[in-house]
Amino acid sequence: MSSNESLTPLDVAQSFVLDRIKPLKPIALPLSECSGLVLANDIESHENIPPFRNTASDGFAVRAKDTLGASKEHPVRLRVTATVAAGDSTDPEFDSGSVIRIMTGAPVPTYADSIIMVEDTISADPDGSSIHVLKEAAVGDSIREAGSDVRMGESVLSAGTALNPAAIGVLASLGYRKVPVFPRPKVGVISTGSELVDTGDIGIGMIRDSNRPALIDAVKQSGFDAVDLGIVADDARLLEDAFKRAATLCDAIITSGGVSVGDFDLTKQVLARLSNGDMKWMQVAIKPAKPFAFGNVAGTPLFGLPGNPVSALVSYELFARPAIRKLMSHPTPFKRLLNATLLDNVVRRRDGKVHFLRAQCQSLNGELQVSLKVGQMSHMLSRMASANALLVVPDGDGYEAGEKLPVILLDE
Ligand code: AMP
Ligand code: MG
Repeated sequence: MSSNESLTPLDVAQSFVLDRIKPLKPIALPLSECSGLVLANDIESHENIPPFRNTASDGFAVRAKDTLGASKEHPVRLRVTATVAAGDSTDPEFDSGSVIRIMTGAPVPTYADSIIMVEDTISADPDGSSIHVLKEAAVGDSIREAGSDVRMGESVLSAGTALNPAAIGVLASLGYRKVPVFPRPKVGVISTGSELVDTGDIGIGMIRDSNRPALIDAVKQSGFDAVDLGIVADDARLLEDAFKRAATLCDAIITSGGVSVGDFDLTKQVLARLSNGDMKWMQVAIKPAKPFAFGNVAGTPLFGLPGNPVSALVSYELFARPAIRKLMSHPTPFKRLLNATLLDNVVRRRDGKVHFLRAQCQSLNGELQVSLKVGQMSHMLSRMASANALLVVPDGDGYEAGEKLPVILLDE
């Protein structure tokens, strides 16, 4: 039996997880809390945007025919009889031969069919009571008709849309205070290991917990809510209490440490019991982050990430983030794979695994280029701190500078 026979291919492991994720139930949330959330229903417009016919520029409301033949050489003189500012509700009448001074966003007087921009006029009187028009106006110039952006009754945003700033703006412009969305998942983060301490002095054999702060930050950057559930020692009773509490408090649980082959079986036993045998322990065909566990604990999905700090973050990117995005019904759970040109040779041996190397990506003359960070071991978190991408290296005997390979951008 080859050593790779028990490895689960990455896509199989990812599908296994995603297939077991059931999206959260939709709720109505205030617009101010909806950034990045996904709409649960289609949104129909009950109003026109813009709500009334208004001007797109500062200038003068005219009847276009009154400016016939106007040019710099032969300006047309017109009287200014009133002013309409943004927010005014007046609709001044005006005769042929006169204009209304008007500011961007103000309602266009009924009798006007065009707006001459200020730039196409000069003042004809010191008191501004008449102007010279330097350019012929055409009907409709600088006029924004009611409903020209969104028509009343139109479906503006469909269910499944992830709300970006423009979508939030559209909903606000339609007067929505609350909208039906899939809630922002609450993600509990636990570090396990009797060697872990927070800040302060560290005794012999102890290390500081870096996974929890790093994963909490990753959770926040993904647009989820993070719940800090602390450090739990390798102790069956403490682990059980912590996982039970996490399952009641959170929509998803991320725990790191205690999932590799050589670990005490504690975490495994506890999670197997709490999940009624639903936990699946995998050796995924990737490097780093080979050990991975997933299952539902009291109905709450739990991601068991490896303890090595780089592995924990890579595992988060490949498994937890996409699955939690599915929990919030996100239309695109996975990050994009972009093709980048290698600036370095990639030395590797065939081992049945896809390697995820910490890398720096930059765009040069429209081409995405990628160079490798020095120090690729899975405890070397400091090297990952200055990386902005993971280079995806398929199994093989190495790749040469100039070849193209996929990258996942970490800061996207
Ligand atoms: P484990 O997966 O528990 O076997 O841990 C693998 C390696 O990662 C060990 O060297 C651990 O000490 C280390 N490790 C585990 N959890 C953390 C953590 N929260 N922060 C930093 N290192 C950790
Ligand atoms: Mg451990």
